[in-house]
Amino acid sequence: MSCWRQLRWRIVAVQALVVAVGVVTLIVTADLLAARAVDPALLPAFRDAVARALAAAALAAAVVGTGASVLLAREILRPLRELARSSRRIAGGHYGERVAVPAASELADVAESFNQMAQALAQVEHQRVALIGNVAHELRTPLAGLEGYLEGLLDGVLPSDPETIGAMQHEVRRLRRLVDDLQQLSRVEAGQVALRVETFDLAPLVQRVVTQLRPQLIAQRLELAVEVPGEALHVRADPDRTAQILVNLIGNAIRYTPDGGRISVRVRRDGDQASVAVEDTGVGIPAEALPYIFERFYRVDPSRSRASGGSGIGLTIARHLAWAMGGEIVAASPGLGQGSTFTLSLPLIVPPGGHGA
Ligand code: ADP
Repeated sequence: MSCWRQLRWRIVAVQALVVAVGVVTLIVTADLLAARAVDPALLPAFRDAVARALAAAALAAAVVGTGASVLLAREILRPLRELARSSRRIAGGHYGERVAVPAASELADVAESFNQMAQALAQVEHQRVALIGNVAHELRTPLAGLEGYLEGLLDGVLPSDPETIGAMQHEVRRLRRLVDDLQQLSRVEAGQVALRVETFDLAPLVQRVVTQLRPQLIAQRLELAVEVPGEALHVRADPDRTAQILVNLIGNAIRYTPDGGRISVRVRRDGDQASVAVEDTGVGIPAEALPYIFERFYRVDPSRSRASGGSGIGLTIARHLAWAMGGEIVAASPGLGQGSTFTLSLPLIVPPGGHGA
C-alpha cells in the first residue's frame, strides 16, 4: 500500500475517480431519461448506442486523465525533489547550494524562500569562520609577547627583575581581558545576559562614572564637562550595565582623544527617551568606517587600538547591552581628526499623569 503514500499515485487515483463518477452518472441519467422520452420499441437500440458512446468516452477520458495527471505530478514533484536534494547538500556543509526557481508561482515562492534561507545560512557560516579567525588573531598578540619574554628569560637576555615580570603580567592581563570580553560577547549575543532592572535617575549615575574615570582624564590632561538637566530622568534599566556602557563610551573618548583635548557628556531628555551623548575632540571616525564601528573586532586603526589594549569588541557588547534594556547606541563623526559623538538612549519612565520625569 506504500504507493498510496506517493503524491503521483494519489493524483492519478483522483483523476480515475472523476472519470468513474462521470461515467456512472451518465449511465444512470441516460437510462432514466430514455425510459421516459424514447419510444419503447427503439429503447434497446438507444441503450446500445449510449453504451458504446460511453465506453469510447470513458476510455478517452481515462487515457487523457492519466496522462495529464502523470504530467502534473511530474511538474510538482520535480522541484520538490530538487528542494529535498539541496537541503541534504546544505546540511552536509555545501552552503553555496541554490535551487532553480520553477514557473508555477506557488512553487516559485517556496524555491525563493529556500534560496533566501540558504543565503542566510551561508552568511552565518561565513561569520562563524571569520570569528574563529579573529579570536585566534587576537590571542596571538599577547601570547607572542609572553613567549618573547619567556625566551628572553631562558636565554638570559632579559633579567628576571620586577620590570620584566611586570611586562609579562601586563600581557597576561590583556589575555584575561580578552577572554572575559569574549565570554561576555557570547552571552550578550545569545541574549543570555542577566539584567537587574531598577528604576533610577540617569544623571547621578553618569556623574558617578565620570568621577570613577577622573584619574585617567587627569593623566591625559583632558578637559571634561558634564551637562545634566534640571529635571530627573528616570529610566528602567540595569544600573550596573548602564554604567558599563558609559565606562566603555567615555573610556573610548579618553583613548581616542589626544592629550589636551575636550570631552563633553550631555544628559538630556529626547522625547520619550533619556539620552547620554559623549562627544570628544579626538581622532574622529571616517564616514566609510561608521557603519562597521559596532561590529565585532572592527577597529578603524588596528595598530593604534591594539597598542592601547582595545579588543575591538567593547562597542559590540555595549550595543547589545543597550538593546537588551530597550535602548540604542548610535555613533556620529564629521570625519577623521574632527572628533566623534556616541549617544546612548534609554526609554524614559513616564509616571501616570506625569511628563517623563
Ligand atoms: P576598542 O577596544 O578597539 O576600542 P571598541 O569596540 O570599543 O573597541 O571600538 C571599536 C573601534 O571604534 C575602535 O577600535 C576605534 O577605531 C573606534 N572608536 C570607538 N570610539 C571612538 C572614539 N571615541 N573616537 C574615535 N574612534 C573610536
